[in-house]
Amino acid sequence: MLVFLQARQPHPIRSKIPPTAPVGVAVTPIRRQYLKIKHSYPDAIVLFRLGDFYETFDDDAHLASAELEITLTSRSMGKNLKVPMAGVPAHSLDSYLARLIKKGHKVAICEQLTDPSKSRGIVERDVVRVVTPGTVVETGLLEHKANNYLAAVIEENGWAGFAYVDVTTGEFSAAQLEASGLPLELERVAPAEVLAPDGDDSAPQRRAEWQGGATPEGETMSPPEGWRANPRFTVTPLAPASFRLESCRDRLLEHYGALTLESFGCDHLPLAVRAAGAVIEYLSRTHKAAMPRLSPLNIYSTGGFMVLDAQTRQNLELFQAGRGRTEEHSLLSVLDHTRTAMGGRLLRRWLGQPLLDPDEINRRLDVVEAFSTDGFLRAGAVSSLGQIPDLERICGRIIAGTALPRDLTGLSAGLTAAAGLSDTIAGCPAASWLHPFLTPVPEVPGLIAAAIADEPSGAPGEGNVIRPGFSPELDRLKEAAGDARRFIASLEEQERERTGIRNLRVGYNQVFGYYIEVSRANLPQVPEDYVRRQTLTNGERFIVPQLKEYEEMALTARDRIEELERDLYRRVCGQLAESAEAVQRLAGGIAAVDALASLAAVAVSNRYVRPVVDTGDEITIKGGRHPVVELTLDAGLYVPNDVRLSPGSRIILLTGPNMAGKSTYIRQVAVIVLLARIGSFVPAESATIGLVDRIFTRAGLQDDLTTGQSTFMVEMVETAAILNQATPRSLVILDEIGRGTSTYDGMAIARAVVEHLHNDPRLGCKSLFATHYHELTDLASTLPGVSNFNVAVAEDGEGVVFLHRIVPGGADQSYGVQVARLAGLPPAVISRAWEVLNDLEQPSSHANGAPGPAPAPQGLQMPLFDPGRALQDLLLGVDISNLTPLGAINKLYELQEKARQLPEQL
Ligand code: ADP
Repeated sequence: MLVFLQARQPHPIRSKIPPTAPVGVAVTPIRRQYLKIKHSYPDAIVLFRLGDFYETFDDDAHLASAELEITLTSRSMGKNLKVPMAGVPAHSLDSYLARLIKKGHKVAICEQLTDPSKSRGIVERDVVRVVTPGTVVETGLLEHKANNYLAAVIEENGWAGFAYVDVTTGEFSAAQLEASGLPLELERVAPAEVLAPDGDDSAPQRRAEWQGGATPEGETMSPPEGWRANPRFTVTPLAPASFRLESCRDRLLEHYGALTLESFGCDHLPLAVRAAGAVIEYLSRTHKAAMPRLSPLNIYSTGGFMVLDAQTRQNLELFQAGRGRTEEHSLLSVLDHTRTAMGGRLLRRWLGQPLLDPDEINRRLDVVEAFSTDGFLRAGAVSSLGQIPDLERICGRIIAGTALPRDLTGLSAGLTAAAGLSDTIAGCPAASWLHPFLTPVPEVPGLIAAAIADEPSGAPGEGNVIRPGFSPELDRLKEAAGDARRFIASLEEQERERTGIRNLRVGYNQVFGYYIEVSRANLPQVPEDYVRRQTLTNGERFIVPQLKEYEEMALTARDRIEELERDLYRRVCGQLAESAEAVQRLAGGIAAVDALASLAAVAVSNRYVRPVVDTGDEITIKGGRHPVVELTLDAGLYVPNDVRLSPGSRIILLTGPNMAGKSTYIRQVAVIVLLARIGSFVPAESATIGLVDRIFTRAGLQDDLTTGQSTFMVEMVETAAILNQATPRSLVILDEIGRGTSTYDGMAIARAVVEHLHNDPRLGCKSLFATHYHELTDLASTLPGVSNFNVAVAEDGEGVVFLHRIVPGGADQSYGVQVARLAGLPPAVISRAWEVLNDLEQPSSHANGAPGPAPAPQGLQMPLFDPGRALQDLLLGVDISNLTPLGAINKLYELQEKARQLPEQL
């Protein structure tokens, strides 16, 4: 939330300084240059290179000093003109940049384009790159094993174009889909920044409304609807012209040097073209100096993937787990044994996008099987993978012109290891579909080996980056510089001998260059050809013409070496960039091998089996386990369980006390289905997984703090979404529906939901419904598709032992008091609870004496219904310490409604 707020908030200390100097004020040329540049980037903080610093001025200086906690000073930039200034040292740009980007700012980096020592007049400067959350390439700002996406969205007549790019890897995809599917795609891709047409609702003066706060005029506005309200990404409005079809098409054709969009398969998808074109336009503006080279545009259809909404990702803990929402104990953390960053990113993408096509899944499974059964094959692949650096991002840096010499040596070593990997995989027929992606690119290591030294220095310029022999001119210059240095080094000894002055010394300083220093006592012995340059207290400094000649030679050679080496390095990078596409393709193949080898490693170490994946309408799992929970227990303690869901028996009503293992079981089924559908082996004895188009889950009881909705409201909204959207091929996991309200309301809602899932002819989905309301088990007798299961519990006096075994039949009681005892409630509370329970269970306490719940629609009339007690229950059941403000209002409203009904009912 914070990021979003800061991204959108006009900074309070930004005043309205006009971007041009006031008329009549004589400003310095630098000021004029700065204002001209700033004028083109009004919405970015301009970091203006001045020598060893990046400086900010005016409003930007106020903002930077506040955000970065750096000193605000001022600089005279004209007659009687002092402007606020705040700067950061050039060598620590990355860390300051990271802080500004994390706070949601855009930063324009303005460099010196000419060498200040050689420039006459003012140094030329211009913005080389605008850094925004979606376009960062700095390694320090990126997560190693996750992509950083920039997306663009255009909506029209119920349809949407969606495109996203990772500029560090070149991955570029676009789709055209129904607008209603857009929020799901945004959730899946989770871009850092989204470009959208600057329509009415996003005009600058209305942007404050997105914060749900006050507009500049002080009116209060409500937050926006839909995906734009997502706090996880920055929305960057672009002029609608950026999304015009013709110009977008032209931009794409120009970027790829193509004549028609047919080759990308998007000539008939105007909205996808418009979104992709807007991305390219934005990149050309942010990456002024070097436009990233993007992989061929991948047009995809959301129809090929299983849909997982945000709730499902969260409830199944795919990427983050626990209250802290950390990566530890997430499903990805169990699966990810990848050796390369590319493999890590691909596995993450696979997990978020399970497949529908069994052939595609089985292709992956074939390779996982080959790797699981052939230990040598896997060990060979893993050992090569361990030597491969992040080729995708190195390529990105080569194209952007920011690659360091060590990136090149890393790339070369990586490609050599990749050639070894290709050889290994060539011996695996199951992976034949990967062979075309694993084509070696020998010209790259060849060029790097010829051009770059074995252990190059950090940056080109000192003469240690280009390999001797690559450039005769560079070698000659280095030799000349070496000769001069050697002459100067030998001069001291030579002159001591010639003059007989034993403490004569050759030294160097910035002002005079090389000199010969003689102490006062020895001055009479100074030869005639010495020319005096400087007098010190204890002696004098001289030069001789030969010394200056060699000095000149050394310095000229040094400058020339610096210039030539930089130039050669740039040219080598330029040549390497020509092979970037081939390297990116190879990197894709490596990523797939890595992800599949990782899945095989998990399959072997955690004893998973290959599932049968088909287009059938059944889910059958024998001896299934939850892949994450089983690892938190000692070996052998996890109790495996079976499940069978088919059109004839498609709803499992699972009852049992709290803590028995209901949630674990129903999630386990969903997770096994998901694993099978990404091409992974599964934690089970055997499994057959038919076609599942979407997994829905509704679980957990936490309030949604980000939207301020109460638990119950969130629960009902999500349940409604499931009932509206599920298809006969969907898998629905419902955990403790109705728990967020009073017992009677909750039970009534739970019953009605099961009945609807069963009876609505449109739905017909497979469902696992876990509840502690054991009163619902009678549903199985009236609804043929519903089967009762419960979690076996052994009673031990007043205590219970959870067996975690799922057995047919319904639970007959909730064991609530026993569980409370296990949780450590004081004995006095427990014995009072037994008393109250006994009381309640006496037939005389029944208001109407009706035994058991009646079938629907009378199902709403629960047994034991006593409105007075219901009100009391409701009041006592309120968990005040966990109530949100909105939750409290809902509760109060509910209590008042109940109280209103009391007089008539009593
Ligand atoms: P419920 O949903 O019934 O309240 P949970 O599914 O949250 O219960 O399970 C409670 C705990 O029981 C889990 O944290 C886990 O440690 C343990 N557990 C659950 N299922 C199993 C199982 N099949 N085998 C062993 N332990 C289990």
